Amino acid sequence: MSTDPGTYTYSDDVLRDRIIMITGASDGIGKALALEVARLGAQVILHGRNSAKLEEVYDEVDAIDGAVRPSIAVLDLASANAENYTTLATSLEDEFGRLDGLVHNASILGERFAIDQYDAVVWQKVMHVNVTAAFALTQVTLPLLKKSEDASIIFTSSGVGRTGKAFWGAYAVSKFATEGLSEVLADEHRHSALRVNCINPGATRTNMRLAAYPAEDRSVLKTADEILAPYIYLLSAASKNVTGESFDAQ
Ligand code: NAP
Repeated sequence: MSTDPGTYTYSDDVLRDRIIMITGASDGIGKALALEVARLGAQVILHGRNSAKLEEVYDEVDAIDGAVRPSIAVLDLASANAENYTTLATSLEDEFGRLDGLVHNASILGERFAIDQYDAVVWQKVMHVNVTAAFALTQVTLPLLKKSEDASIIFTSSGVGRTGKAFWGAYAVSKFATEGLSEVLADEHRHSALRVNCINPGATRTNMRLAAYPAEDRSVLKTADEILAPYIYLLSAASKNVTGESFDAQ
């Protein structure tokens, strides 16, 4: 078996008995990851803002032979307040008692404008959903992650979160901040059972990519199903002690 994150191969029970929450599990990469994580034996908590879409993913997980029945966590990251986060953490504590994995996947693109034309309200919303909400969710779930003997947090970055690129505005800046949050958190838990890393999925055939590049040939893009190996690597015991790193899924 390969332990290189990008080509990591794994057995069908590699995540058995793990409890893993994925944000933005209603669509795109988060949905594909939720289905794979459930297929590999984990109890998956499907987070999103749209109940109807989450229920469709729930049904798809439920139809997987042998999969543990998932759980749904509805929370709009754009509008959730402190009480909403605490309520979510309390219900996770009551239902599961711990978390072994937290994948911060949900994000919004915002608008593609130069900084001098960028709308300040859109800027704040992108920074809030992509960075501040991930901070808030991390903070309330840390006690649950610390109850795991082998916990993993994954943040989702982007190529424009490593090299600034014209017209990517708040989205790019939010991904730089995401890399920073991941590094700070990793360093704070360097001597614990909690590892914290980032993944840049690379160009992937989802609705977000379509919004960013409406005219491109989508047939050449990897599908979300094809980029999951590093996520499974970081969620499994194979990556124990790997922390503070940022990986490319492609
Ligand atoms: P996507 O298809 O647009 O899915 C985004 C997910 O986030 C959806 O489940 C969406 O929910 C959820 N979400 C958005 N706003 C939310 C909010 N306010 N509250 C709760 N959930 C919210 O995007 P994707 O392409 O799969 O992207 C997944 C991650 O990969 C993102 O962090 C993105 O920045 C990153 N990424 C993607 C690419 C790419 O080429 N696709 C490249 C680099 C990085 P709804 O279903 O309700 O909309």
